[in-house]
This record gives sequence, C-alpha cells and structure tokens, in this order.
Amino acid sequence: MTATQLERARAGEITPAMERVAERENRDPVFVREQVANGRAIIPNNHQHDALDPMIIGREFATKINANIGASETTSDADEELEKLHTAIQYGADTVMDLSTGGDLESIRRTHIEHSPVPIGTVPIYEAANRVPAPPDLTTEDLLDVIDTQARQGVDYMTIHAGIRRDHLPLTDGRTTGIVSRGGSILAQWMEAHEAENPLYAHIESVLAILREHDVAISLGDGLRPGSLADAGDEAQLAELRTLGELTEIARDHGVQVMVEGPGHVPLDQIAPHVEEQREICDGAPFYLLGPIVTDIAPGYDHITSAIGATEAARAGAAMLCYVTPKEHLGLPDEEDVREGLAAYKIAAHAADVASDQPGARDWDDALSAARYEFDWGRQFDLALDPKRARAYHDETLPDEQQTDARYCSMCGADFCAMRIDQDARGDGLDALETGRPLANSAAAAVNVPPTGTHDTAGLPEVPEILCEHGVESVVAEDD
Ligand code: SF4
Repeated sequence: MTATQLERARAGEITPAMERVAERENRDPVFVREQVANGRAIIPNNHQHDALDPMIIGREFATKINANIGASETTSDADEELEKLHTAIQYGADTVMDLSTGGDLESIRRTHIEHSPVPIGTVPIYEAANRVPAPPDLTTEDLLDVIDTQARQGVDYMTIHAGIRRDHLPLTDGRTTGIVSRGGSILAQWMEAHEAENPLYAHIESVLAILREHDVAISLGDGLRPGSLADAGDEAQLAELRTLGELTEIARDHGVQVMVEGPGHVPLDQIAPHVEEQREICDGAPFYLLGPIVTDIAPGYDHITSAIGATEAARAGAAMLCYVTPKEHLGLPDEEDVREGLAAYKIAAHAADVASDQPGARDWDDALSAARYEFDWGRQFDLALDPKRARAYHDETLPDEQQTDARYCSMCGADFCAMRIDQDARGDGLDALETGRPLANSAAAAVNVPPTGTHDTAGLPEVPEILCEHGVESVVAEDD
C-alpha cells in the first residue's frame, strides 16, 4: 500500500507533489515537507486522481478558495456539470466540491475527477442519504461503502461529520436557527431515531483506514456550525470543536491528512478569536471556513457579507475559504452567481495574503498599479481579477479602439484626469516610468494570476475556448 503524503513527509521524503507545490508557492521544498509532516498543511492528492496538479492548504501558504458544484434532482446533466467545473476553475477555484444529490452520482463524479486539475472534495453522507428512503434507514455499512467507493474513484478530500455527537444535541435546543448543516441534520435525526452515537464517530477508525489507503484527506465537518449570529460561539459549536480536536489527533495517528471546517455566521469581532481557538484545540490543523457571514441582514448580497468575514478569517490564519454566492439562503446559484462569488473570494483571499506578507502576493497589485499609471489599458485588463468585466466597463463609455491609448478614462474625463495632470506636471512624462514589472518569479504569478486560479489550464480539455482567453502563460510571458 502506498504511503500518504503525511507518512512520507514524516519519513523525511520530499515527494514529487511537494516539489510541485514548492515550485508553485515559491517556497523551499524542505519547508513544504516540514509543514506537511507536522500537520500544519495538507496536499489533497488521491493516488487515483491522475489529472491533478498538486496544491497545498495551510496557513503558511497562499489562501485557497473552494467552489461547490454538483447536480441536483432537477439539474443532472453530465455536460452541464463539466461546464460548471470549468466555470469554477476559470474564475479561480483552488478546489471544487462535488455536492451532487441527484442524477448518476458516480458517473458525474468520475467525469469531474477525470477532467479536474484541482482537488475534488465530496460529502459522502449526501450520497449515502440518497440511497435510502429516510436518514434513519442509513446503516454504518452504507456510510463505509459510499466512502470506499468515492475513495476508489479518486476523490481527494471528504467532509466527514464525525464531530457531532449525541451528547451535543440538547445543546442546540435554544438556538435561533437550530442545526443548519445538511450532514449535521441528517446525523442528528439518525442519532435521535436510534438513540445511539453518531456512526461516523463510533466507527472513525474504519473510516480512516479507507481514507489512508487512497490518501484521501479528511475534512472534519462542523455539523453544529451556527446558522445565525445569534448562535455563533454557543456551547453546541464549541463542544463539537473540542471533538474535532480529538479527531484531528486520531486521524494523524492513522497517517491521514486532516483539515478542520468552521462556520458559517460569526460577528466580525469574534472571527479572529475563533480562528485562534481552533488552532489551539486542533493543534494547528488547516482551518477551512464557510464565509463566515458577518451580518444576517443582506440576503442577495451574502457573497459580500461573507467575503468581509472571509478576509478577516484568512488574515487571522484560515487556510481555505469556501465561497458563498449571492444566492446563499435563496436558491441554486447559476453561472453568473458562481462568477460573483468566486470574484468576491479571490479578493478576500488575496487581500489577506497581501496583509500577511505571503511571498510575492503584493507583486500582482504593484504590476497592475504600474500599468494603470502608465495608461497601459491592455495590460491593466489582462492583470485584472476579471479581465472581461474590466474591459467591458471601460468600453461602455469609451468604446473606440483608439481610446485604449487614451491618457484618461470617462470617470474624470480628458481635462481632469489627475494621473495625466500629475505626469505632465512632473515634466518627464511616461518615458521615466518603470515598465513591465516582472511577475514570472513571483508566487503571485504561479498562485494567483487571474482568471485561472492556481492551476495549469493545460489539464482542462473539452472546453478550451473558455480557458484560453486569458491563460496564465500569456500573462506571464509578457514579463519574460
Ligand atoms: S480619468 Fe480619473 S479615473 Fe480615469 S484614469 Fe484618469 S485619474 Fe484615473
């Protein structure tokens, strides 16, 4: 049986995946190995996922973002699912979770894994629940069988809600929004019906044996995460977090890579203390947060309410952020919602990386600022987080081709363009300006340059026209 990245790191080996991650993050491979060996970072990398371009999740590395996709009972077309995968990666997702609950689940997942250069995550209890008439009909064998099937297919990480225990359920009685995690609510119903402990907790060793065999990372789910500010930081959430700390140690002892999931809805001032608390309780395991949403008053804008929380969480040390779209709490996101959500989260992750001085992160900002001051509109668009939108907004009011050479835009107009006036006043014009700031050796280029996220687009066949419009190589090549 091939050892996991964790076991190999502990044995002192620098694996090809670690070498690749070091190259992409502009880090020493020895440092990468140490971070994996001590559990501070993970490289989700199922032995069966041949299309994967390895990436790393840990607080010492660039903040990553995840996008959720998946078929439902009403939308379950395989081509549509492949399109969603491409959209997610095009707009910068570092990992993608297939949360399908309808259609041919195995076939859809196989398609995702075959085509995805980014790690694929799943929540196996969704498929298990799909197999039975009602949650209480689930058996431990069902759960283990689904986990085994998905691990054999090549899933790189799985959310396992093993931390929600029978003793925790009464702690949710006074909540404003009860249990809002799908996995958490299914398991709570099961425990109440059977008057028994959570089977994922009771049989965690069997779960870990499967995950270890295929090097699937465990993402310890927070089934009791708060669904409102009113419930943030309550005893139910903290009791589960303490169990997640216990499970972190058990998983590591079994050679399984671990990250821990977090909330949800948290007031802004409580986010950094909560990230710190997780780090202490879970011994520095990478923290993967959904948002968090910092105010409950803005349905329709929760990509913004949560990106504020996500920025604070990442600045405080969260390693990965699960994006939220404007449709959160309201409906199934469409492609435009995915684009809005991912843009909001790329901004959150990058802003935090700049603030925490990740190697090369600021280079992207500096290159774009230089292009802006030089009135190099083409380069400004190319470097923009969303080149299509930047170009479209500019061309809305100055559409002529010649206007792309203009030393102004329509915001202040030709006579009042402050940057043009400033350059003229300095007297040396554009000639004295620094041009072409290099990005090729920067982690910003390898990790963040838009719109393809952290991954090599060559691994994405089938819909090349989407991915080649603003490929990483074309942006980097200008600086060589
Ligand atoms: S016109 Fe105003 S907004 Fe436009 S480039 Fe000049 S200073 Fe910037």
